Amino acid sequence: MSRRCLHCGTPFEPTKGNQRYCKKKCYAVAYCAANWERCAARRAANRAANRAREVKYQAAYYAANRPRITKLKTAHYTANRAAILKQKAAYRAAKRKRLKDLKTGKGGRTKR
Ligand SMILES: [Zn+2]
Repeated sequence: MSRRCLHCGTPFEPTKGNQRYCKKKCYAVAYCAANWERCAARRAANRAANRAREVKYQAAYYAANRPRITKLKTAHYTANRAAILKQKAAYRAAKRKRLKDLKTGKGGRTKR
């Protein structure tokens, strides 16, 4: 008897009576959606434990693929230049306003 996966909807043949997902990956995604905090804590712990290894791996990857990464970044910037500049201008304007508000004593920390 065929059943549909609760996550992706693919029909599958269950190997056990209580099987609800077609593959481990679908179960993991559904589990993390339902137990978000537990999964986030586990990810954070894992990341902290492997931070040095990750940094090393990323540096090696960047060194090995530098020309390709540079090319991709340049292409991305060229294609999205207008949007990037607009976002930067908005950020700067907001920062200017924050600084002005700080000077005039509106919001932020109070003067001593
Ligand atoms: Zn599935």
